[in-house]
Amino acid sequence: MPNKFLLIKNEVKYMFKTKTIILLILAACIILSIGINSLNMTNDFNLFYIRRTSSTISFNSVKFGATICSLLFSLFTVINLDKDKRKRSRTIIESNLDYLNIMKARIVSIIFYAILTTIVGMIVVMAIQKSIYSIPIDISYYLFSYFVIFFPTLLFSILIISGLYILTESLDMSIITFGMIFIKSLRSNNYLLTWVRTNLDIVSDFAGIGAVGNTIIYNRLLWFLISLSIFFIGLLFRRRYESGVGSSFFINIKSRGLLVLVIFLILGSGFTYAKEPYTMELMNDFETSIDERIYLDGIYPEVEFDCENGKMDAHVLYSFINNGSNIIKFNINDGLKINSLKVNGEETAYQKIKNTIEVSIPNVEKINIEFSYGGQVKCDKNGVGRAMPGYISKESIYLLEASNWIFRPLVVEGDMIGISGYYIAPDYLTMVVPGRLIDVETIDGNKKWIFEYKSHTADIGAFAAKYKKVQIDAPNMTVEFYYTPKHEEYVDNMKIVEHIKGMMEYYIQNIGEYYSKEYPLKIAEVSIYKRGGHSSENVITFAENTINRDNSMYSILNKNNEIEDFRKVDVYVNDLNLIAHEMAHQWWGTGVNIRDDTPWSSEGLANYFSYKYIQKEFGDMISSGAFLQPWEYRVNELKNYYYIKNDDMKEKLNERFIKSLEMEKMHSELYYLMPLKLLKGEEIQGEKAFLEGMQKIYRRHLLKDLTYDEFLQEMNLTREAIEID
Ligand SMILES: [Zn+2]
Repeated sequence: MPNKFLLIKNEVKYMFKTKTIILLILAACIILSIGINSLNMTNDFNLFYIRRTSSTISFNSVKFGATICSLLFSLFTVINLDKDKRKRSRTIIESNLDYLNIMKARIVSIIFYAILTTIVGMIVVMAIQKSIYSIPIDISYYLFSYFVIFFPTLLFSILIISGLYILTESLDMSIITFGMIFIKSLRSNNYLLTWVRTNLDIVSDFAGIGAVGNTIIYNRLLWFLISLSIFFIGLLFRRRYESGVGSSFFINIKSRGLLVLVIFLILGSGFTYAKEPYTMELMNDFETSIDERIYLDGIYPEVEFDCENGKMDAHVLYSFINNGSNIIKFNINDGLKINSLKVNGEETAYQKIKNTIEVSIPNVEKINIEFSYGGQVKCDKNGVGRAMPGYISKESIYLLEASNWIFRPLVVEGDMIGISGYYIAPDYLTMVVPGRLIDVETIDGNKKWIFEYKSHTADIGAFAAKYKKVQIDAPNMTVEFYYTPKHEEYVDNMKIVEHIKGMMEYYIQNIGEYYSKEYPLKIAEVSIYKRGGHSSENVITFAENTINRDNSMYSILNKNNEIEDFRKVDVYVNDLNLIAHEMAHQWWGTGVNIRDDTPWSSEGLANYFSYKYIQKEFGDMISSGAFLQPWEYRVNELKNYYYIKNDDMKEKLNERFIKSLEMEKMHSELYYLMPLKLLKGEEIQGEKAFLEGMQKIYRRHLLKDLTYDEFLQEMNLTREAIEID
């Protein structure tokens, strides 16, 4: 054994002397430093000028660094392993020393240098943060980024390429295969496969790593097993002196330990992949059908959140009016296990098919169903870290109705659904509840948030964080704005509260009164792990990037209407537009229920009115540059959906590709084509007459449905008149 240690020590010394490794460490430090600002170099416009903090600096540097250093280290490894072959000295070595031990020593020394690179790189980036940006260092984010993300990526790269090289004995083959595994990781949305730089776009300043930390660690565990599998498979087929693959294999498996290890690792990888505990497959809308014979009459949720463990416990009572059905279906979340289920007071069995359960009900008019369930909310495999509709973590709770955290009954929703109940959460969190908050009670370390609501949908969300709450008064109603005090400086400097008030007043004046005098509009900042915004009932949310940008943005407001940096203005108006869009849904979506009929939907109306607000505030040049022109561009592209229109082509393409094209096409029609049609209507009738027409429609259809035909007729418009060519 001292012999082996000596071998490694010699390798480390030898590599150091060749200077390549020094260059590699230097290069890594430069790449990691460049990575600090990598977000501004991507196409991800929504993440430009994000405020620099320990979390963003450490994560962005390693995300960028891991991608390039993974390639550099794998190349360095494979060239080092191949070195003797090129020098034709292998036979000499093989006859003298155990070649395998030299290989192993070499790999261990490279891993040693990978650790050294991680430490040196981390120190360099910390020094830049402290000296150049004068931002205080939160070491926990650095340790996570560098030792859970960066170093493992290097380790996996070294192990994978070593295994591939030993297996193929070919420089080209091992590099090409490695490249394929590498590219697969970059292109996948499945968090289990993204081993190079994780699935995240950015770490939340708002919720921390907590909400996604487990998935990153799980990914690391899986790839540790996979990379070890590849490495030891390589060893299993290691060529013996003057033997082929087959005969070498038979010599190698004489070492039973190696064989058992390989089998164990392969099974372990497969098991870890198959049994991953954090995600599920979400049901598609078209797979669910509504039972028209049953009406939902009331939902009464009583929920306790265990933020420490990311879990929840719920007791939910539903009341239904049944007109002759004998079964009720619910869409559920796979992470939540049902402890008991009662129908009209009696314990009842149920059937589970995928993520839908079927409950038998008696043929009586009044049906009450009571569920007790609990566990950890799962999300879609491809949504981890980017589009998570539900998570519970120490720092925040984000549960959108789309996650089915409140089981969704597949029945007709009554005109007025009674909703009342409570959420219990740790007392350091402020909860945003649907409807009206009735009372808050403190019970040993927890707060109980009691709420009540009369709703026309069963959409119930739950949002919580260490919020600051600001009340904004608007005509005949109030707005409650919840945001993290961490972003207060930006909110103040960028006049976010003033704009929210301005939007409210603009909509009230130009569309009509807010739909309710009883319920306040609640606006909550939420984490970046769900991008964009959302509106349902009287609650809207938007992702933190909207109000967490760099203080270099402040200057765009201070100039005398002379804009210096159009890119920054563009980012700013897009942020405001996101809030304005979600707020407009309170009129078109919550206030008036828009009956979808592509391109007609609440999205077109929301985009039209948020555009109108931005145009009023920032003028024609900025609003048309930020919205009109991109919309027109996207609508023009609609003509190119040749594949979907052409039946011959359709047959040749795969179904998933066509589906994604159809989704893209519909998105453009709803979000870009429809508002352009509305603007054309406005052009025909004049702004004043058009908006008066909209006000009439809003009054007439408040808390009712509105179809495209009703809209056209009441506005005295025709489909042809607002055609866009
Ligand atoms: Zn929308």
